[in-house]
Amino acid sequence: MKTYDAVIVGGGIIGGSIAFDLARRNLRVAVLDRQELMREASWAAAGMLSPAPDCPSAIPLVPLGRASLALYPKFVEAVEVASGMRTGYRNGGAIEIICHGDVGRELSTLVALLHGLGLACEPLPLDEARKMEPALGRDARAAAFLPDECSIEPRALTAAVLVAAESAGAALCPGVEVTSLLFSEKKCAGVKTSSGEIFHAAQVVLAAGCWSSQIPEAAPYAPTLPVRGQMAALRHFGTPIQYVLRSERGYLVPRGLESPQTLVVGSTIENAGYEKRVTSGGIEKILSAANELAPLLEKAEILETWCGLRPGTPDQLPILGPVDVDGLLFATGHYRNGILLAPITAKLIGEWIAERRTSMDWEAFSPLRFLGAKENRSVTA
Ligand SMILES: Cc1cc2nc3c(=O)[nH]c(=O)nc-3n(C[C@H](O)[C@H](O)[C@H](O)COP(=O)(O)OP(=O)(O)OC[C@H]3O[C@@H](n4cnc5c(N)ncnc54)[C@H](O)[C@@H]3O)c2cc1C
Repeated sequence: MKTYDAVIVGGGIIGGSIAFDLARRNLRVAVLDRQELMREASWAAAGMLSPAPDCPSAIPLVPLGRASLALYPKFVEAVEVASGMRTGYRNGGAIEIICHGDVGRELSTLVALLHGLGLACEPLPLDEARKMEPALGRDARAAAFLPDECSIEPRALTAAVLVAAESAGAALCPGVEVTSLLFSEKKCAGVKTSSGEIFHAAQVVLAAGCWSSQIPEAAPYAPTLPVRGQMAALRHFGTPIQYVLRSERGYLVPRGLESPQTLVVGSTIENAGYEKRVTSGGIEKILSAANELAPLLEKAEILETWCGLRPGTPDQLPILGPVDVDGLLFATGHYRNGILLAPITAKLIGEWIAERRTSMDWEAFSPLRFLGAKENRSVTA
């Protein structure tokens, strides 16, 4: 019989970051994953660290995103020191391009919206934009600069976070599939696995990405659903592109500044169930968006294509915190923002487990919102 202070279901960026936080608090932690660790959404992500909302439903997420972005430099430092690995963290900002529609109005709406949300964003005259980023295409009709945005390499980050968690004392358990939760005296007391092995724990943290809803007792609290995103990596032989470039059609994220340069371009947003398949239509769409942003990429070599399943939720907000059963916590449903939100998620879950309080209000993300009940939800400090 294995007994821990906390068992975390899911070894992606969210489970790994929580494990690192808890292990540094000297708690006995195990991370269980049904396959190799970090093979799902966290492996597939682009790595933009952008708290700017991409649609109105994402606006309630902005304070959480801003808080997480502010934690990033220290988070990266702690992870890199503990793991001895690099994460590809880069600051320097992003350029948002508007190519279609009433561009003047769209630009002023964007700037006003982001200012209202406390996010830095300045209109960028096109000649200045092209000086900053000569690769910008002629289709750009307006531009804005978001100086605080950063990027990271999600595969490198997640691998480093898991090594950091292990070096702080967490047990990493690949190949362990959780099939159900274990209850004892109305508390969650651990998990059952497909091999029949039971892991006992004072706290179970559900961080199984879009599969969280497949664990029967978790489903009512976490109705997660997969949202497929297709991606490509390009090798670009010209002058390296410096900034993250984004339009309403897609984005490109530079990895490093050396030539030849690798750029990651994305992404589709598709409801294709749990099917992970890269399609010609999907790749055509993201390449055409990338080539519109920076036409010189038409000459870039395609290095790799892949897709991943984002953990979506019915209201597009994450699912964070305790429920009406002691010993059970959720950290899932991060949809398009799980890389950005990993540091704040780990911090809040760590605070809750260690201190029964959180330094930030997370009520809007309570798993209880899906039950229509909010009893037993304790206050935040
Ligand atoms: C194409 C794409 C681009 C993205 N770009 C960005 C971006 O630029 N910025 C950003 O912030 N976010 C981005 N995201 C979103 C981000 O990747 C996710 O929100 C984040 O990775 C979710 O992390 P996770 O740990 O919750 O889930 P995952 O990484 O999916 O990990 C869940 C883990 O749980 C395991 N698991 C599932 N069921 C069980 C079970 N029963 N028992 C044991 N283990 C189980 C799985 O094997 C998996 O390893 C992107 C996502 C995609 C797909």
